[in-house]
Amino acid sequence: MAAPDLDDIVRLCKQRGFVFPSAEIYGGFRSTYDYGPLGALMLRNVKNLWWRTMVQLRHDVVGLDAAILSSPRIWEASGHLANFTDPLVDCRSCNERWRADHLPAGDDGVVRCPNCASTDLTEARAFNMMFKTHVGPVEDGANEGYLRPETAQGHFVNFSNVLQTSRKKPPFGIAQVGKSFRNEITPGNFVFRTREFEQMELEFFVPPAEADEWFEYWCRERLEWYVRYGIARERLRLRHHDKEELSHYSAATTDIEFLFPWGWGELEGVANRTDYDLRAHSEASGVRLEYFDQATGESYMPYVIEPAAGATRTMMAFLIAAYDTDEVGGEARSVLRLHPDIAPYQVAVLPLSRKETLVPVAEEVLGLLQPVAMCDYDETQSIGRRYRRQDEIGTPLCVTVDFDSLDDRAVTIRDRDTTGQVRVPIDVLAAEVAARVGR
Ligand code: ATP
Repeated sequence: MAAPDLDDIVRLCKQRGFVFPSAEIYGGFRSTYDYGPLGALMLRNVKNLWWRTMVQLRHDVVGLDAAILSSPRIWEASGHLANFTDPLVDCRSCNERWRADHLPAGDDGVVRCPNCASTDLTEARAFNMMFKTHVGPVEDGANEGYLRPETAQGHFVNFSNVLQTSRKKPPFGIAQVGKSFRNEITPGNFVFRTREFEQMELEFFVPPAEADEWFEYWCRERLEWYVRYGIARERLRLRHHDKEELSHYSAATTDIEFLFPWGWGELEGVANRTDYDLRAHSEASGVRLEYFDQATGESYMPYVIEPAAGATRTMMAFLIAAYDTDEVGGEARSVLRLHPDIAPYQVAVLPLSRKETLVPVAEEVLGLLQPVAMCDYDETQSIGRRYRRQDEIGTPLCVTVDFDSLDDRAVTIRDRDTTGQVRVPIDVLAAEVAARVGR
């Protein structure tokens, strides 16, 4: 499998409509990105797959969609106002700013500015990464609010609401997918680190005595998820945090890392948050966030195991892992070997020509397949070029309508990975496609 470099991925994303630089017509805007027609489909697929795995296929997890705009009291109690900081250093020579823990020392052990190589750097100071804003028309301190830097606190402040309405009891989880915002000092590596991004977070509430067991369970489950959807096991690893690296709320953290073109990077962190958050919010709000166990007649504060993944970062990892080049009929092709559940389109319907006689049959075929799978429809250029285009964007199946289709009421299914072709009657096409893309 060809390992792409980052430029290959950025180029593919731009040319084929996965990801565009935001506000490009104005020269871009500070490492923000927009997801184009294919990126919007693929990102949605990643989030839906996570939801399906974490909520739909389990009986012990319920969903939540909490507000992004949030009260300062939440972040004060959670410790983020005091602790959600990165160490910032300034270069006195070129005035660039860097995250101190991302600046490697040279062979001589000296740290230099990556921009101008000066060694004249300030001492590191704590920089809070939360975006502050004003809520309402008056811009004063009483109206301050924050864009959430993680989805997680929504789960904790709604703990009692969810417990009462869902009738769940520990061990049980609350899952949420949504945007988070961090004023990163050095965003970069395309969508790996951005200031606006999407997270997929589960807070799993357990009896304290079971916390270690569930921590191991979620590390295993989450690692397997990436493998199941197409990332080779050898490009993934688990990395345990030392005591010094642990977040302020965590008793243990293991990162699931992926081998990006520039080296290992985090896809997801699994943390044992203990009862840190429920306790902090109970103390700050005066509302006891506990579970009353009818069996023992006692109340207790559950521990929380949190698998927290990034949706945008994960989409990028799936793109990199799927990228491949090979040769078909003596010609080089580039192909995204995406899992059908992740590929933007599962099927492309391709009439052999734009002749009037073919179009009605092609449209009929499209209408039959659209309820089953996400379909592209393309009638321009030679069929060979259209196959290449679909290979490059990862479409697992092409369905070609040709002149024989008018007589035999059959079409050709072409497989992205093998390039093999089979003739299938239109009457059974929807069932055949559904079976092939796992619907
Ligand atoms: P990092 O060490 O890379 O800054 P983190 O440990 O602070 O990440 P978490 O707080 O554990 O990240 O967030 C959970 C997940 O959210 C990460 O594993 C990552 O996939 C995603 N994520 C975090 N920050 C960003 C970001 N700035 N851009 C894109 N995704 C992010």
